[in-house]
Amino acid sequence: MVEMVRDIESAMSSDIDQIDWMSPATKLRAREKLAAVANKIGYPDKWRDYSSLAIAPNDAAGNQMRSEAFENDRQLNKIGQPVDHAEWQMTPPTVNAYYDPSMNDINFPAGILQPPFYGRTQDIAVNYGHIGAVIGHELTHGFDDEGRKFDAHGNLDDWWTPADLKNFTVRTDCLANEYSSFTAVQEKNPADSVKVNGRLTLGENTADNGGLLLAFMAYLQRAKQDHIDLAAKRDGFTGPQRFYIAFSQNWCQNARPESVRSQVLQDPHSPDRFRVNGVIVNQPGFAPAFGCKPNAPMAPAKSCRIW
Ligand SMILES: [Zn+2]
Repeated sequence: MVEMVRDIESAMSSDIDQIDWMSPATKLRAREKLAAVANKIGYPDKWRDYSSLAIAPNDAAGNQMRSEAFENDRQLNKIGQPVDHAEWQMTPPTVNAYYDPSMNDINFPAGILQPPFYGRTQDIAVNYGHIGAVIGHELTHGFDDEGRKFDAHGNLDDWWTPADLKNFTVRTDCLANEYSSFTAVQEKNPADSVKVNGRLTLGENTADNGGLLLAFMAYLQRAKQDHIDLAAKRDGFTGPQRFYIAFSQNWCQNARPESVRSQVLQDPHSPDRFRVNGVIVNQPGFAPAFGCKPNAPMAPAKSCRIW
């Protein structure tokens, strides 16, 4: 996992080198920020001390109240203290991950480091497609429409030249418009259908798109380094195909239309269908992997790319 995180960070570094829309001055700041990202994997270096919290069997309400008082005290005790850079905002068993712009850290609790997201003996195409895309997602948050406003130390600081910001905005506008064209809930009467809100979900979509791109770059690089034959088939699929299938399985779910309708109004994440297909249409690696013809549904002529 440590190696995969490093691989994806080095993919981001090559990506920054390659992009043609950012000036050398801003690239320098972007690299500085990337180099300062703290990687938190598995569990914190320092365990939180819960010994003063009394948990009693058969006292659910009391446990809840004492837990809240404990957490309230813990938060209040931070006042006047230096920031604890070792702190985690998720517990180790959590099946999730996050980026914190004011800490400039990426966090992958032990809970997400198990199949299908990650397995020590799992095919690397599958690991890079599953957890690799999540690593890339969290890392890209540091460079999305919100994260880009924070510097390497997690302070609000505009490190972009006006021209680079303009170039970035052209790209984020492309993504916002693209996602706003996706129909989240289709009804017989078109007036009752709802679309994805490309503005509300911009940061998450930026992270989804950049994250998968970085994971794929890192996968190709790792396969090359380890002399892995990409064309070799497993279960009838090549390496790149298994990578994209694994990625798509990250967001396998069923949702009722009522739930999706409510989600698009308030959730900064796109509905899971678009966390797959909305991302795939922008991936230069997907059409070659599956032999999609130009203008096939997953290989449109016009697509968007930020990172
Ligand atoms: Zn996210």
